Formats: sequence, C-alpha cells, structure tokens
Amino acid sequence: MEILRKFRDRKLIQAVSKSIEKIAKKLDYVRIMHVCGTHEHTITFFGLRSLLPDNVELIAGPGCPVCIVPAREVDEAIEIVFSGIRVYTYGDMYRVPGTKMSLADARSEGADVKVVYGFNDAIRLHMKDRKKSVFFAVGFETTAPTLAAFISRRLIPDDLMILPSFRLTVPIMKYILSSFDINIDGIICPGHVSTIVGASAWSFIPRISGIPAVVAGFEPLDVMLAVFSILKMLLEGKPRLVNEYSRAVSWRGNITAKRYVREVFYRADGEWRGIGRVKRSRLLLRKRFKHLDARSRLSVSVDTGPEFKPGCRCADIILGKAKPTDCPLFMRACTPDRPQGPCMVSSEGTCSIWAKYGGYERIQWHYD
Ligand code: SF4
Repeated sequence: MEILRKFRDRKLIQAVSKSIEKIAKKLDYVRIMHVCGTHEHTITFFGLRSLLPDNVELIAGPGCPVCIVPAREVDEAIEIVFSGIRVYTYGDMYRVPGTKMSLADARSEGADVKVVYGFNDAIRLHMKDRKKSVFFAVGFETTAPTLAAFISRRLIPDDLMILPSFRLTVPIMKYILSSFDINIDGIICPGHVSTIVGASAWSFIPRISGIPAVVAGFEPLDVMLAVFSILKMLLEGKPRLVNEYSRAVSWRGNITAKRYVREVFYRADGEWRGIGRVKRSRLLLRKRFKHLDARSRLSVSVDTGPEFKPGCRCADIILGKAKPTDCPLFMRACTPDRPQGPCMVSSEGTCSIWAKYGGYERIQWHYD
C-alpha cells in the first residue's frame, strides 16, 4: 500500500503536472493515444485530463477487448447456445450486442449462458454439471496464456470446447500508426499486455513511426509521468521507447506465457469491430488442438450483419477519432443501463467509463 500511496500522491502529481505545462508551452498541439481500458479508467476516474494543458490531448484507442469482438463472433456464440449447448462467458461479454441480440438476451429467452470470472471457473462448473459446453474466449495478450496453459497441459475436460475470439494489441497498434487519417504524436503502451509481451514488443513505434512510446502503469502518477516523458522526447526531437512500468514489465516479458500461447495458437488475420481486417491480429487453435475448436466441431455458420446500431459512433471512438460526447446517443438513448453499442457495455469501454465518472470531457481532478 505504501508504494500505491506514492503513486497517488497529490503533491507529486501536481508537480509533474506543472512540469508538463512548462514543456507543453514550447510545443504545438500534441495528441497522445493509449490502447488500454484500464488507462482510460485511471485518466477519467482521477480527472487527469483536467491537469493537462489545453494543447495536450489524451485519446483512448482500441483498448477494450470486448468492444472490438465482431458482432459476427457474438452471433456464433448465440447460435451455439440456441442449439442447446451451454456457453460460458465473461461478465463484460455477456451484454455485448451481436447483430440481433446479446448473450444476455439469449439467456432471457431460456438459453443456457453462464457468466464466469475465468476459465478455471468454467472448468469447475463443467465438472459439476457435466454438460456439453463452449467457453467463449475473448481478450488480448493477457488472457490468452491462461487458456493456452490449460490446453497445453491437457487439462480440458471432455465436451468442453473453445470458441476463440482473442485479438492482439501489437498488430492493431501497427495498423493504427500506418493509417494516414489518425495523427498521433506519442503512444502510452498498455501495462498489462506488456507484462506478457515485454516492453521490447513496442520498439517498432519509435523505430518505424518516429514517435515516442512509454510503457506505463495504472496509477495516476504513472500516466502523468508517461505524458511528461513523451512531451520531453518530442521537445528534444529524440523519440525512444521508455519503460516507466519497470516494477512490473521486463524487456522480454513473460517467456513461459508466450511459449504456451505459441504452442497452442497461431496468428491469423482478424476482423476488429469498427475497424476491419487487421493482419495477424487474431489467435486461432493449432491443428493438433482442433478437437477443442467449437467452430470446426459444431460447424458454426452465421451471416454477416450490422456491427452497430444507427447513430452509434463506437467505430470512431474505438479508433480514437471521436469522443463519447461526440455521439448523439451518449447519455440520452445510450446509458450503462441501456447500452446501444459495445463501448457502453464493458467496464473497459470508453463510453461506459465516461458515463460512470462524469460523462463529460474535462472531468475535474477529484482524488484526495
Ligand atoms: S454512447 Fe453508446 S451509441 Fe454512442 S458510441 Fe458509445 S456505445 Fe455507441
């Protein structure tokens, strides 16, 4: 707790804020993107945007693993559950709409959907009920290793299949940085993902895109230091990769976790909701584990339909091209109780975070 107190120390944070202000005076407009729902939570919950000068903007990118699962893959889970097979899913995924309905809607129509905290929870329930089931596996690089370890060690019970919908943040970052219509001056790299992939995974950012990148933790001081570091590098004209979160992230990451993932999954091109196809951004089960793959075992086939409801601006919000307040439905037709798009459903969705902690752009610093 002592270390936590330091990273939330009001005086320290305000001192960094003053240093940021000084540097920012010497710079033009600066846009810094992060790609992590937890970073957006820290920024919004602690009102960090109110501590930044007007010419420094923090933009939320595609950091919510649930928001970017294509509606089509939600439909696959729904088709499976309506065929009489139980589906296990995370709470965040439960209410995410597919093209016609969510798993929560399916459950209200009598389908057997169970919300679990993790894969071991699904195994526990499966062993108890012994019912043919599918685990709807979503998440970024952080979630895949646990499942991969279970599969690699042959710990999956009979009749428990996997519907993999994992996506990878490193390829999406490459995609965003190569898009001509998104101007970004610096990147705050996701701390959780970096504990697995290692800080080195982001070294392409300064090397190829020529902009600074900082791996940051999730306390307010972490984020403020990351902003300071990016501005300093911009001022000096020396973009580098900095690991601000060295208390948790190593250069090479978690070698064991990466080995499990490589053994069990291969990378394929994957659709991202609101974004489109991104090269080598999806994890699918290798041939020798196909007997666990719900898609091939159950011959799941669904039609393509609309990803978003009319008026929903999730696609732009996921890419950092718009803010929740730019959406005409925000806190009117779309609220956390009645979400109209995926960004309002998940606790890591930008719309949901803005809705819960104020719902406006410059939420005041409120931590004491
Ligand atoms: S407020 Fe709702 S409808 Fe608007 S972009 Fe966010 S999730 Fe979509």
